[in-house]
Amino acid sequence: MSDTYDLVILGSGPGGYVAAIRAAQLGLKTAIVERERLGGICLNWGCIPTKALLRTSEIYHYMSHAKDYGLKADNIGFDLEAVTQRSRKVAGQLNAGVKGLMKKNKVTVVEGLGALTAKDTIVVTQGDQKTELKAKHIIVATGARARDLPFAKADGKRIWTYRHAMVPPEMPTKLLVIGSGAIGVEFASFYNDMGADVTIVEMLPRILPVEDEEVSAFMDKALTKQGIKLLTNTGLDALDVTDSGVTAKIKGKDGQVTSAEFSHVIVAIGIVPNTENIGLEALGIETDRGHIKVDGHARTNVEGVYAIGDVTGPPWLAHKASHEGIVCVEAIAGLKPHAFETWNIPGCTYSRPQVASVGLTEAKAKDAGHEVKVGKFPFIGNGKAIALGEAEGFVKTVFDAKTGELLGAHMVGAEVTELIQGYVIARQLETTEAELMETVFAHPTLSEMMHESVLGAYGRAIHI
Ligand SMILES: Cc1cc2nc3c(=O)[nH]c(=O)nc-3n(C[C@H](O)[C@H](O)[C@H](O)COP(=O)(O)OP(=O)(O)OC[C@H]3O[C@@H](n4cnc5c(N)ncnc54)[C@H](O)[C@@H]3O)c2cc1C
Repeated sequence: MSDTYDLVILGSGPGGYVAAIRAAQLGLKTAIVERERLGGICLNWGCIPTKALLRTSEIYHYMSHAKDYGLKADNIGFDLEAVTQRSRKVAGQLNAGVKGLMKKNKVTVVEGLGALTAKDTIVVTQGDQKTELKAKHIIVATGARARDLPFAKADGKRIWTYRHAMVPPEMPTKLLVIGSGAIGVEFASFYNDMGADVTIVEMLPRILPVEDEEVSAFMDKALTKQGIKLLTNTGLDALDVTDSGVTAKIKGKDGQVTSAEFSHVIVAIGIVPNTENIGLEALGIETDRGHIKVDGHARTNVEGVYAIGDVTGPPWLAHKASHEGIVCVEAIAGLKPHAFETWNIPGCTYSRPQVASVGLTEAKAKDAGHEVKVGKFPFIGNGKAIALGEAEGFVKTVFDAKTGELLGAHMVGAEVTELIQGYVIARQLETTEAELMETVFAHPTLSEMMHESVLGAYGRAIHI
């Protein structure tokens, strides 16, 4: 006997569970299959628990600098287990929240490992029990996992992936972070603020390589000033685990290989999509470099089978997964949603300082043939930033010189991950420089820098 649904979703990350809720809202009888914990990587091992850790390191940083604010804090310290427990508790609270949302929306949750055995059938294995689910539509939302180095598998003791780094058995004394994308930089920032001696190795010429070049350069200086060693244009030849730590063979810019000792290593070199053993090959579902190929409404090449989120490719972000889930389900339900595109998806890095961006970098805008007008406003010119003791950073805006279209915005500094949404909305509404300049920004706020940056692009900045 099999249960029959309008929609079955394989994987309950921010792609899958959000799609399930929207489907329920639209009246589809929906089931979701999860082998581990509801909420996926994002809630349990990604976005949320890292932000809980970063909040701790941020407060610890402020406590260490209490004097700057006229305060006294002596003998400050931390209990690593309690720090980790707080982060796990936050993840647990959100996992319970998703359980509640599934119940409220009458989505059937099926625990176990799922695989497609036909284009309308998923078999879920839990222990020696098998459940067959029939569905008119199936969404694959199985996400991704950390990529291992080809020559050294993460062992959880000395060589960590993000999962290990989030529940450290001990505090690293000398930490090597391999890869300077958002995940690498966030962990580097956390452990550095907690007192570890941190080195980042990056193969490309600059850290945070997808960001605007000026943002990468600023972050390079800011992190170096904080004591993090940054080795760009640098590769890794080998990692050898010893009794006391790890010996890394590091290949520098000049091709010279040197050895260095570390207590722990975090490997943050990207992700691998979870596409194995879920029945894709037998159904002939096309993939591209491991990711499932989809159109702008998440349709695969097999009718009735869809894919969303990390399993379909970059950007590997929770809000991208959720958005794709909603578009996919609305199309299934017969609504006519806009096809999704990646041009207006913000990206954030929650390090200290923070980084946030949307749209084209200045270089990419020029490569695309735009004549550009660029505005840049520093935090030091903003009253609120100075009052907060956060005068480090800038807001950069890139406009098309002919049309006034906001092509991109790039920010570095305190709270920019909250500010960026202003520009995302502006882009979504196809706002030009004229409307942005006419908009009144509350004083004193960090958001005034967003106004000043736009004014600056047209030679009209007030406070600089
Ligand atoms: C350390 C870290 C920090 C991050 N921080 C951020 C951030 O700040 N902001 C942001 O936007 N993104 C962040 N991300 C990325 C974000 O977590 C992912 O983009 C997001 O989780 C992708 O959602 P998803 O639904 O596609 O897949 P996932 O969240 O990976 O969920 C997939 C689910 O499918 C389940 N599954 C897989 N195969 C099967 C199967 N065969 N049967 C049953 N269940 C299965 C998995 O167990 C998992 O629960 C971070 C990631 C990491 C690792």
